[in-house]
Amino acid sequence: MKPAPFTRHVPKTLDEALKILAQVAPQDGRVLAGGQSLVPIMAFRMARPAHLVDINEVAGLDKLAVEDGKLVIGARVRHAAFHKRVENGPLGALLSAVVKHIAHYPIRMRGTFCGSLAHADPASEWCLAATTLDAELVAKSARGERIIAAKDFFEGIMATALKEDELLAEARLPLLPAATKFGFNEFSRRAGDFAMSSSLAVYTLKDGKITEARIGVGGAESSPRRIAEAEAAVNGKAPGEDAFRAAAKAAAKAIDPLEDHQTNAEYRRDLVRAVVRRALEASL
Ligand SMILES: Cc1cc2nc3c(=O)[nH]c(=O)nc-3n(C[C@H](O)[C@H](O)[C@H](O)COP(=O)(O)OP(=O)(O)OC[C@H]3O[C@@H](n4cnc5c(N)ncnc54)[C@H](O)[C@@H]3O)c2cc1C
Repeated sequence: MKPAPFTRHVPKTLDEALKILAQVAPQDGRVLAGGQSLVPIMAFRMARPAHLVDINEVAGLDKLAVEDGKLVIGARVRHAAFHKRVENGPLGALLSAVVKHIAHYPIRMRGTFCGSLAHADPASEWCLAATTLDAELVAKSARGERIIAAKDFFEGIMATALKEDELLAEARLPLLPAATKFGFNEFSRRAGDFAMSSSLAVYTLKDGKITEARIGVGGAESSPRRIAEAEAAVNGKAPGEDAFRAAAKAAAKAIDPLEDHQTNAEYRRDLVRAVVRRALEASL
């Protein structure tokens, strides 16, 4: 099928983009970033926006830089930018370890980091990373700017705190201390498919014990989130099988599992138990 008719706007500046978005948002005007999610759903006529605000030529949205202890990722930065380390510390290594799990190479060449956050698929690897790392998300509109904490940004399956006239202009990820350990794991039936469950584990070691653990789970609930019960199970413990199994068990118990044609709640809990344990093991 072909998409329903639409008008494509191609602003060159952020001010121009926000002005157009304010005008067309009430007529289901949408931002077009990499198009890797929006274009397929338009082709299936599951979305019929009358206007697209194409941000691919907006100056400045390609920013990818460290500022004030944070990695700033502009709305035009594509997944493929993270194939190489974008900064020399653990955050750069973490992002380049995670990116290869997103879709396939051609999709990573077009799809954007911020587009993934705005699309808010529960299984998105970047949504999981943003939540686990407590990213700040910068929403801009003709009305002004506001910063939304990642934990408040995701509001359910493909639902976010963004208003219809707001553009997610950039995501800011805090840099990680040099001694940070991390591990990521996801389960999908075929390489490149969306994950059926995923986990990102991040912590530091102090006197051989885990501190400041962050354990995020994606693909299992309607939005990714940090699982406090799993973090409590490893904080203050030596990294190893006992602590990792306890965290995995706590995460499996804590989630409110999504069910679909492929999975029931029990299976999803089993997947979460497996991906949390494997993410922690990958940190060693
Ligand atoms: C076959 C296939 C497999 C895939 N597998 C995965 C996978 O394993 N993991 C994964 O995470 N993703 C996967 N994707 C999705 C892909 O990563 C997309 O790139 C991503 O979800 C959306 O980014 P985009 O830049 O292409 O956004 P678009 O498709 O352009 O937009 C998606 C939605 O977000 C909105 N939007 C985009 N940018 C902004 C912004 N800056 N501000 C406000 N709203 C915005 C759009 O209006 C639209 O509603 C897959 C896609 C395909 C086709």
